[in-house]
Amino acid sequence: MWAFIFITIAATMIFAIYCIIPNYWMRNRSKRVLRHGTAEKPWIALTFDDGPNPLYTPQLLDILKDAGIKATFFVMGKQALKHPYILERMHSEGHTIGCHSFSHRHAWLMSPWHTFKDLELTYQTIESFLGYKPRWYRPPWGMFNLCSAAAARKLDLKIAYWSIEAQDWEATTTAQHIYDTIISRAQPGSIIVLHDNRGAPGAPAKTLEALPPIIKALKKKGYTFVTLDQLKGDTT
Ligand SMILES: [Zn+2]
Repeated sequence: MWAFIFITIAATMIFAIYCIIPNYWMRNRSKRVLRHGTAEKPWIALTFDDGPNPLYTPQLLDILKDAGIKATFFVMGKQALKHPYILERMHSEGHTIGCHSFSHRHAWLMSPWHTFKDLELTYQTIESFLGYKPRWYRPPWGMFNLCSAAAARKLDLKIAYWSIEAQDWEATTTAQHIYDTIISRAQPGSIIVLHDNRGAPGAPAKTLEALPPIIKALKKKGYTFVTLDQLKGDTT
């Protein structure tokens, strides 16, 4: 009986120390995490997670090119390995490319060793294809463990969260919902997270459908679209 109580308390403490507390800290309090840009300029940042995807990402790049705007892509190493030509196109068209993870594993299910290795592998995949050192990290689902920040620091990566999400990964999401959510919540300095891969089957198609009217409406409101490097005031 005492052994059971001891094991339960110990497991709860380990879970809190490795998962709950660092996740709360990084998402809400840590000054190392960019959650919102300056409100002094009418800047807004579009970010896209989980790609590249051979069907959706080229269409997304076409939309951004037509609109004459730059975005930030948090790519999966596994996807980049499969579709390096899309990664190269992102880079050549002036978008910022950051690390999202290699295979989108949840931080709470990764050991310390795997947390470091997963991020290193993603970083190395991007660097090997582009000769470009990524500068940003956003973990899958925005979830952190005790080692996430240390793994990012080791690679000199800045960490990005977001201030607006539009549930664009859900099966029941509509393009109208994505549009309404973003337009109603947009503020100077907002960081918008959308997805060009994963989610429910066909979900990125709704993101692509919503994006041109979103860009048009935000431009009309006077916003300028910037990458996270620009939003943070760093040179690109
Ligand atoms: Zn993701």
